Amino acid sequence: MAVRALIAGNWKMNTSLAEARSLAAGIAAQPSAAADLLLCPPAPWLQSVASEIGATGVMLGGQDCHPTSAGAHTGDISAEMLAEIGCSHVIVGHSERRTDHWESDAQVQAKADAALRAGLVAVICVGESEAERDAGRDLAVVGGQLAGSIPAAANANNTVIAYEPVWAIGTGRTPTVQDVAAMHDHMRTVIADKISDAAHVKLLYGGSVTPANAAELLAVANVNGALVGGASLQVEDFLAIAAAV
Ligand code: PEP
Repeated sequence: MAVRALIAGNWKMNTSLAEARSLAAGIAAQPSAAADLLLCPPAPWLQSVASEIGATGVMLGGQDCHPTSAGAHTGDISAEMLAEIGCSHVIVGHSERRTDHWESDAQVQAKADAALRAGLVAVICVGESEAERDAGRDLAVVGGQLAGSIPAAANANNTVIAYEPVWAIGTGRTPTVQDVAAMHDHMRTVIADKISDAAHVKLLYGGSVTPANAAELLAVANVNGALVGGASLQVEDFLAIAAAV
């Protein structure tokens, strides 16, 4: 069975409300036939983006969730809240959260578990630093992150893995297609230890994906889509990446 591609836009802490509405409306007006599209706007804009998307089939996701359902956690958002507002997915373990908020693999696993309990698809991010790649430890680091971050209940319907080398995020630099292929092959093998239907899990590549490099990255074996940051903030760029599938 072929794995249908997913092109996910991580808007991070960008856009005004008006920009978010316009971006969502522009993307929803031209949904891709080749790939599923997922938009992950800042949390305060989720409901407005949901209205713009409507029933077009473009999906909505959060950028993070708390491991628990409710309680005294000022500033946090539960997976249940994201589900109630219309999200189908949530990103967990993005490298910016692992760095800025010191999130460990165990915390990422707990967040992914919370997402699954709430009926969301967890988009679990992994990726090595430049120093780790230079030391030849990239495969081992990512393997360790996968082992530590994937919850026991994960399967191909509720879990997506995004490989995002930290040094490629927002830098305009990307690994070679050979390096992406080697990492994605490795990830496919490693996740089989934790996920019985590992062959069908979507493995996304993320890190400086643009319309110019999307076709060659998306053509790599075991790359089933992309997690896009900067280029997801322009309607034309995001749709061009989806069209490259
Ligand atoms: C990201 O941070 O998820 C990302 C892929 O960013 P960019 O595309 O801007 O490198």
